[in-house]
Amino acid sequence: MRPKAVFFDFDDTLVLTKKADEVAFLKTQELAKEVRPDVDTAQLINDFTSRFTALPWDPANSHLHLERGVEDLIDWLKVEGIAIVVITNGHPDVQRGKLAAAGIEKFVTHILVGGEEIQQGRPEKPAASIFHRACSLVGCQPHEAWHVGDNLYSDIRGAIGAGLAAAVWINPQGRAASEQHAQPTHTIAHISELQDILVAELQAFSTQTEG
Ligand SMILES: [Mg+2]
Repeated sequence: MRPKAVFFDFDDTLVLTKKADEVAFLKTQELAKEVRPDVDTAQLINDFTSRFTALPWDPANSHLHLERGVEDLIDWLKVEGIAIVVITNGHPDVQRGKLAAAGIEKFVTHILVGGEEIQQGRPEKPAASIFHRACSLVGCQPHEAWHVGDNLYSDIRGAIGAGLAAAVWINPQGRAASEQHAQPTHTIAHISELQDILVAELQAFSTQTEG
């Protein structure tokens, strides 16, 4: 089946949020060392972080940018007529701030934020409903859509459970996929590897339809 849509997780899929967190940690540590050289700054920040979950560290999210290859990938999907939806879990204020900082709204019209779903009485990923809402946004059936994400539970199990055609796992550390979870259809280390997989899929589809 030729994919009609590709859905993307956001954090650690289109942007490396964990890397931005590390930068924020180091910057805060430098600052804390200047002010209080006598204090164990790593411990200080860890204590602070554990009590500070409602807001992002850096309100401007200045270290967050779209990963290498994402803009080209989006352009190529558009040329192929494949629709795009970003499906991201989390609090609307935090997620909307990060989405805006990364500039994804310039390229993608359809974005579903899990926290906004919850506000409207619907669950976030891995619930099938959020994937099905993405399908209705772009006018496709679940078996015509792919999903790409780094989380085996919310992304891979969610997409397979919702009956999507394929679930692509972003797995930079080369971890083994736990047998407790649904198995990904494809595994890649970085989002920039997705286009080759889709090209192969489109070629296989056009060979089938010619034959
Ligand atoms: Mg993620």
